[in-house]
Amino acid sequence: MSDRLVLALDIGGTNARGEVLDVRLGAPLVRADLPTPEQDGEATIATIESLCRLLLAGLSETDRARVQAVGLAVPGIIDAETGVVRLASNLGWSDEPVAARLSALLGLEVVLHHDVTAAGLAEHRLGAGAGAPDLLAVFIGTGMAALVVTGGEVVSGGLHQAGEIGHMPVEQGGRPCPCGQTGCLEMYASARAIGRAYGAVTGDVSATSLDVVTALGTDPRADAVWSEAMDWLAHGLLGPITLLSPVRIVLGGGLSASGAVLVDALRTRLDALSHVAAVPEIVTASLGQRAGVLGSGLATFAAIERTQLV
Ligand SMILES: [Zn+2]
Repeated sequence: MSDRLVLALDIGGTNARGEVLDVRLGAPLVRADLPTPEQDGEATIATIESLCRLLLAGLSETDRARVQAVGLAVPGIIDAETGVVRLASNLGWSDEPVAARLSALLGLEVVLHHDVTAAGLAEHRLGAGAGAPDLLAVFIGTGMAALVVTGGEVVSGGLHQAGEIGHMPVEQGGRPCPCGQTGCLEMYASARAIGRAYGAVTGDVSATSLDVVTALGTDPRADAVWSEAMDWLAHGLLGPITLLSPVRIVLGGGLSASGAVLVDALRTRLDALSHVAAVPEIVTASLGQRAGVLGSGLATFAAIERTQLV
């Protein structure tokens, strides 16, 4: 087992990252990045193939022979069992048999993972969630999604869709969400929602959540936007905390770059709101942008171990 290698990939909307990892998941043997094509499914397949070939080309012939599989972490709705991406609008895929197609091109087993599940798994095992068997890892960026860990086990749900916290309703008949529902948490508290709310009051349509955090304490409009978003975030998280009683919440994704400002805002509100559940420890993610690749590697080693044990 210890001599095996995997190509661990994390395909984001902007960049496709890849590393060749052994089972210890330490420093990569080779790493490479390529820009992700814009919403073009065929070009994305070609980019992933190129990235894998680039990684393989960086290995010695002996090490190339050790490569067992490719792990592919992607955003969107995926069927990990069949390797089919149901919908990844940013990558231009709809009902695309991504794993089978890449496997045919590369001659290697390809294992598909949800990007947030992968990043959350990495934080749980190797990052800010290490040592917490009951954990909620919440990734807040353009959208929001979470990894739920209870009793040391990742909860995927019988229908494999656990963790879609961004589409948890927080307001009946509230703001319309592109998913088709109304009142989804990510319409109030994602990094994108925060940037948009600030843009609506300042007139700067390119405003980001980072602009809001930077202007805190100097622009009362930023203070108001931030405070309202944090109220919604705490309101949205109180339900899962009450239901699951995690010991730690790990906050990841773009918004977690705000660090203590985010952690303190959330802790203060949860302390005030919660009268039943104990408020868990709240920390920011520690693996940064490498979390997706590391989680992709972790989950792929687990998957090939399972197949080869059967
Ligand atoms: Zn939604």
